Amino acid sequence: MPELPEVETTVRGLARVLKGRRIARVEARRADLRRSFPEDLGQRLTGARVTGLGRRAKYGLIHTDRDDTMIFHLGMSGSWRIDHASLGKHDHLLLETDEGKRLALNDPRRFGSVDLVATGELHDWPPFKALGPEPFELDPRELRKRLRGRTAAIKLLLGDQRIVAGLGNIYVCEALHRAKIHPKRRGGSVSLERLGRLVGAIEEVLAEAIDAGGSSLKDFISPDGELGYFSKSFVVYDREGRPCRCGGTVKRIVQGGRSTFYCPECQR
Ligand SMILES: [Zn+2]
Repeated sequence: MPELPEVETTVRGLARVLKGRRIARVEARRADLRRSFPEDLGQRLTGARVTGLGRRAKYGLIHTDRDDTMIFHLGMSGSWRIDHASLGKHDHLLLETDEGKRLALNDPRRFGSVDLVATGELHDWPPFKALGPEPFELDPRELRKRLRGRTAAIKLLLGDQRIVAGLGNIYVCEALHRAKIHPKRRGGSVSLERLGRLVGAIEEVLAEAIDAGGSSLKDFISPDGELGYFSKSFVVYDREGRPCRCGGTVKRIVQGGRSTFYCPECQR
């Protein structure tokens, strides 16, 4: 499942072929993914120039000179492919640039989405309105305010998009381990000093993954041209029963229906 680093890597890869280019052709090859494509998608994007790209939480943003922003979400299995040799049945949306580059949004499970919103109204777009701050803009005092009085486990609270936007299961596990915080600790009980460590850990684990994705981009115009997926190594995630650096053993528990991996020795 694409997490924030995959989305960021995808946006950077798309920017290389889209930024400053005109969209010459748009083809929706079905009517919907998780929800319908906007009816006027082709009309509003065709001929528009891409002025910039961005990311908010796990959404990719493509801004045009018509003050529209196309917002995409990769859902569970989405990816963009550039100049793929042949179109597959899961290539649901095509964009062609004035340079003849062909970008296909591929999504076998179709949990992704594509929306078009006036750029000036992005903040008010309902899925964005309730989002908390970006992980890279997080401040320990702000985080403490958001967690104050909360008795739920810190692991669950960090995965809540209203508290921090775009953090998924993997990076919450990794960041808590790096900050040596027990995943079951009550959110409101974590000291400001430890929240400072946690904010640093969140930024580090995400930045390292984005760097790994960035190095995968060097060959992104390969025949399969798929953006955003790259191999990563984790310290605790998916490592149940394996040794932790401290000499402890990584344990798996279930919280809120998702697996949590942590080390009972060094996380308190
Ligand atoms: Zn440990």
